[in-house]
Amino acid sequence: MKAKDKITIICPIKRFANEWADSIRKQVPEFEVQIYPDDSDRESVEFVMAFDPQPGAFAHFPNLKVVASMGAGVRAILTEPGLPENVTVTKIVQPMHQRDMADFVLALTLSHLRKLPVFFKQQQEKVWKHHSFQRPEETTAGIMGIGAIGRVIGELFVKNGFKVTGWSRTEKKIAGIQTFYGNDQRNEFLSTAQVLVCILPLTDETTGILNKEVFAHLPKGAYLINVARGGHLVEKDLLESLESGQLSGAALDVFSEEPLPAGHPFWAHEKIFITPHNAGNTHPEAAFKKVLQNYYALKNGGEFVDVVDRKRGY
Ligand code: NDP
Repeated sequence: MKAKDKITIICPIKRFANEWADSIRKQVPEFEVQIYPDDSDRESVEFVMAFDPQPGAFAHFPNLKVVASMGAGVRAILTEPGLPENVTVTKIVQPMHQRDMADFVLALTLSHLRKLPVFFKQQQEKVWKHHSFQRPEETTAGIMGIGAIGRVIGELFVKNGFKVTGWSRTEKKIAGIQTFYGNDQRNEFLSTAQVLVCILPLTDETTGILNKEVFAHLPKGAYLINVARGGHLVEKDLLESLESGQLSGAALDVFSEEPLPAGHPFWAHEKIFITPHNAGNTHPEAAFKKVLQNYYALKNGGEFVDVVDRKRGY
């Protein structure tokens, strides 16, 4: 008898795990879908989906072959000590998700340039006061990590009249975007970025990259947007750079500790805009198609798509 098709979800965020499980059951009703740790028969599991996995979870699956990340970020999966070396890791690369991220970053940028937070405060205080503003054509947005998502952000900015630059590890050519690559060209990239958008993957090389030294290379009064991972940011360096005026403000969607603890100084900082890791939501219905493609590639032998380079870390 043919073994039943089976996917196990490893994700401690219940809402997210259930949303994915419901979507998979709807799309492939013949599949058995289980959520760790309330699952059974772990010896039969070869394919799991994961996001911020519980410590030690992978070690319970002796026949694990593929871990499909439920998001674009894979750091928490790759750094999990129980992840066997021969396991293939894949990630979500999905146009709707990329567009959601780009819309959000554009909204944050326009809100900053058009001073919406200032007007919001004025309304609360019933103040009627005009302010000058900076136009997209007068603004250079620097995309730190011009990969799958960064490119879509950059292209949307170009459409909206911004001057756009991008930085990556290897050389890129993208119409309308001035690109830089590698550590040698990093400071030149930073030198014009009035709005710096971080959308790098979190790796050993990029951990703590949003630090005082990097901020010092930006034009005075630059605005920081971090929609990548909290581990990129050195928090005390941000506070110092906001205090000195080197940075005029920051929009942060991701944090070293999530949810951001109640007593954290960022909450009450008037130059910091906080969102709860909400820049883009993966859309299980659309994203599952490629996950399923990888599931069948495992079962029937075939090429995996959106594979993570485990050595490189993304
Ligand atoms: P990609 O792998 O497609 O792009 C990553 C980019 O970063 C590439 O251009 C890569 O360069 C560049 N890069 C990596 N390391 C370095 C380095 N050391 N120096 C310079 N450039 C570097 O990833 P995605 O665009 O799909 O996603 C990026 C990250 O965004 C994810 O890892 C995730 O953490 C975060 N994210 C956050 C979300 C949120 O809700 N806030 C949602 C989705 C993603 P090269 O092309 O040369 O390899």
